[in-house]
Amino acid sequence: MQSVIRLGTKAANIRIHTPVLHMSKKDIVLKGMELNVPFELSWSCYKDSDAACGVCPSCVLRLKAFAQAGLRDPIPYREQS
Ligand SMILES: [Zn+2]
Repeated sequence: MQSVIRLGTKAANIRIHTPVLHMSKKDIVLKGMELNVPFELSWSCYKDSDAACGVCPSCVLRLKAFAQAGLRDPIPYREQS
């Protein structure tokens, strides 16, 4: 994406920063808690619904990350495996 931006825009000073790219999901959750990230406003589920499905690969990874961090995910789930 950095190359696309460099080639496709006139602005030369746009840089993509990916500070969590090499962090585990658990460490991202812990860093988010440290920074007071409003996780209740975040969404990872592949499905469009009032509650996260709890079973799609993204939900499973998210729930696992919160569990490994010893924390409860604040968003509602329809089910959890
Ligand atoms: Zn889901």
